Amino acid sequence: MKKLNLAKLVLATSLSVLFFNCEKDSEFTAETNQDAIAKSTAHVCIEKWNTNESKAASVKDVQWQPGQTIRVKFLNGSSYLQSKVKQYAVQWEDHANIKFEFVSSNSSANIKIGFGNYNNAKGYWSYLGTDSNNQSHSMHYEYFNNNTPDEEFRRVIVHEFGHALGLIHEHQNPVAGINWNKEVVYEYYQRTQGWTRAQVDNNLFRRYEASTTNYSAYDRLSIMHYPIPAEHTTDGVSVGNNTQLSTTDKSFIARIYPGSTTGGGKCDGVAEYNSNDTYSVGDKVTYRGNLYQKTANGWDNLGACDSTPNGDICAGVAEYNRNNTYSVGNKVTYQGNLYQLTANGWNNLGACGTSSATTKSNAVFPTLNN
Ligand SMILES: [Zn+2]
Repeated sequence: MKKLNLAKLVLATSLSVLFFNCEKDSEFTAETNQDAIAKSTAHVCIEKWNTNESKAASVKDVQWQPGQTIRVKFLNGSSYLQSKVKQYAVQWEDHANIKFEFVSSNSSANIKIGFGNYNNAKGYWSYLGTDSNNQSHSMHYEYFNNNTPDEEFRRVIVHEFGHALGLIHEHQNPVAGINWNKEVVYEYYQRTQGWTRAQVDNNLFRRYEASTTNYSAYDRLSIMHYPIPAEHTTDGVSVGNNTQLSTTDKSFIARIYPGSTTGGGKCDGVAEYNSNDTYSVGDKVTYRGNLYQKTANGWDNLGACDSTPNGDICAGVAEYNRNNTYSVGNKVTYQGNLYQLTANGWNNLGACGTSSATTKSNAVFPTLNN
């Protein structure tokens, strides 16, 4: 499901400072979501690129270290709004091996959050991953107030903290295959946001380079996806106003921030990939929590360094939900067991609470076809 091409890494450079800025958008309220959030004012994020080519920061380069405690502080805002950020930001902690520590406003911090009209900032936005370190104000929530619905708090806060963990917009996933009705989209964003065609190209149509990006299979349910009305695509495909972490969001963040390796994993003693080194066939490296071995044709992914975070094969894996759409490779828990979707159905990988996964053949996942 996740694809990493290490062979391309030597070519991967030249992404520059990423800045995610979100602006008000009131037009997506015609979306088909029945829930209350769809009826409230929605906002979409835009990316602003500082095209300083000399600063070669790639999407991969902005990830935190797995296991890192990321310090977060508030620059202003009521205790109520601050409590909402604390409440929803930590949803990522359930799936990623990172920890947010909220510190006092006079402490040093990695992520620095403003609300309302702080510093005359507009919209909702966050710098990407460790780029937050370089900013005195790295994340912003303009429109929150005491009447903001909880679902909207969740949608925006989880999304912005996704950026702060290094995640890009899902519609710009290298393998996103959205059939944009481009002239309609240009007209829409010109009318509602005042965007030029170049800005629409940048914020909607441009996809990230596969070589510089860790990415999952395209996931239309991702919290990092823009809502897309059906009339914006040539095939009538639409994307709703996603307000919570999808199954792929959870599995992907667990992949790039894998659990601790204190159990003695297969990556022990293997050095992290270094683009300045020369490797021979048979050499092994670790990269973003996975073990790779050089072959004549490139790099083989030998799997996650630690597939058993916290000593439990089910740690960080969400319960099966029949309303979700799953892709091959996705894992779920179900009735106390861990399952992984294959091309032929769900494989039972063993009981939760154990520390090693063993494939049991011919397992049947009874509710899959319901
Ligand atoms: Zn965004």
